[in-house]
Amino acid sequence: MTAAPIRRIVIAGGGTAGWMAAALLARFLPPPHAEILLVESDEIGTIGVGEATVPLMAQFNGVLGIDEKDFVARTEGTFKLGIQFRDWGEMGNVHFNGFGDYGDAIQGVSPHHHWLKLHRLGDASPIEDWSMPYAAAKRDRFAPPEMVHRQGDEAAFYKYAYHFDAGLYARYLRGYAETRGVVREEGRIGKVELDPESGHVAALLMADGRRFAGDLFIDCTGFVGLLISKALGVAYVDWSGLLPCDRAIAVPSARRDPLTPYTRSTARAAGWQWRIPLQHRTGNGHVYSSAFLSDDEAVDQLMANLDCAPLSEPRLLRFTTGHRAKFWDRNVVALGLAAGFMEPLESTSIQIIQTGLARLVEYLPDRDFDPAVADEYNRVTANEYARIRDFLILHYCRSRRSEPMWEHCRTMAIPDTLAHKIAVWEACGRVPLLSEESYQEPSWVSIFLGNQVLPRRYDPIVDQLPIEKLRGGMNQRRAAIAQVADHMPPHTLFVDRTCPAPVAA
Ligand code: FAD
Repeated sequence: MTAAPIRRIVIAGGGTAGWMAAALLARFLPPPHAEILLVESDEIGTIGVGEATVPLMAQFNGVLGIDEKDFVARTEGTFKLGIQFRDWGEMGNVHFNGFGDYGDAIQGVSPHHHWLKLHRLGDASPIEDWSMPYAAAKRDRFAPPEMVHRQGDEAAFYKYAYHFDAGLYARYLRGYAETRGVVREEGRIGKVELDPESGHVAALLMADGRRFAGDLFIDCTGFVGLLISKALGVAYVDWSGLLPCDRAIAVPSARRDPLTPYTRSTARAAGWQWRIPLQHRTGNGHVYSSAFLSDDEAVDQLMANLDCAPLSEPRLLRFTTGHRAKFWDRNVVALGLAAGFMEPLESTSIQIIQTGLARLVEYLPDRDFDPAVADEYNRVTANEYARIRDFLILHYCRSRRSEPMWEHCRTMAIPDTLAHKIAVWEACGRVPLLSEESYQEPSWVSIFLGNQVLPRRYDPIVDQLPIEKLRGGMNQRRAAIAQVADHMPPHTLFVDRTCPAPVAA
């Protein structure tokens, strides 16, 4: 027996999460399959940050059939090959987590083991020299891999993501969703009506008296979690004890050329500062722990470290790291900030919206809302959050910086799952990956080595290769990568030629 299908989906909130949900659901359930309604309030507005992404974003665009050049142009976007980390580990340290690996396995062994051997023998070249995205980023150059692959170079395997203006992105997706039948209603949700029998959400009651009923509700109302938390009372799993940053100051500054094809993250005394290059401005922010730094000090540090004139007053944002104990409860699925938040160190929030949406489409409920389906959605999503949490903690917990916040991170208790990963890495240079990992081996290797957390040994199979052969092969690969990068166009030129933002009328 088949239960009745969902007829009406109501999305509460029109930030990045709300419009991503509207666009994807309109793609998979276009009218007459379902009616999709999105309710948002211009008066409340959106968070207005969230401008760096990970490569999965291209898949989202691909599924929607969005033209990349049009999307980058209309969101004042640029391309991102990874994240440059400055002063993490210790002052003066610079390393890069690029969207790619360090080359193919050699004799079945990951290339970082071969690098470890050379490093022990005194070869001082950093592992990034074997990373294609790093080679391009270092030169401020960019070309999509398919352009590079055409040159027939096997060293060219890498991915890329985007930087974009969050407000323009929501507007872009709104256009997409509305032309596919999504109806937008403007106004403030005053109350959430529950069905007295099932306890499910029955309708959103607007402050002006309108009532929007539905079968499935998507809570995209931001930190407040109007449906999942306020109406259904789902608890919050608080991870502040593991990731102590709980505030951010954000401020845009004038565009500075060249446009770097990467996000920069600079560690500070009690947190870190982001720098995101866009076509019309640079996004900047200081993420910090209020237990170790006052808001005024945080503002001063940020404003003293901008590379161009600020374009507005700095804005304070407060957050609690963690997630809802259930992301899906009864007939409500929370996405975006309503579902949870971890600091934007690896730009993972939009990715989690995307994977949550993909999972929702995969597990789309009937009107009977079998709890087994929600349970599975919640299990997988909780794992995804926990894996990212561990990856973020790794950036902090082995730093040798001496300020009190860093000392705290070095000595605090860390999750067993992370402690196990670190122990295995230190013992043999391998990364034991779990299910629902967003970050694969090269990313973990990048953060371990970037912070000089070295394993006690490399894979013994590496010693089967004569050292001259190993050195020759590694040198050849490094040179091939450098040569490909040298022939890429400057990132600024690539953006200006292929996807310049429309000139304002
Ligand atoms: P919001 O943007 O807050 O939208 C909430 C929506 O709900 C709005 O439309 C609002 O009007 C509506 N709403 C709320 N209450 C009501 C009501 N009563 N009635 C009607 N409507 C209502 N993510 C990344 O991937 N990369 C990054 O680089 C990144 N940087 C970040 C930096 C900081 C400091 C922070 C805090 C977050 C960052 N994020 C980043 C996360 C990212 O900003 C969010 O994941 C993303 O913007 C989604 O937000 P949202 O749509 O869930 O919430």
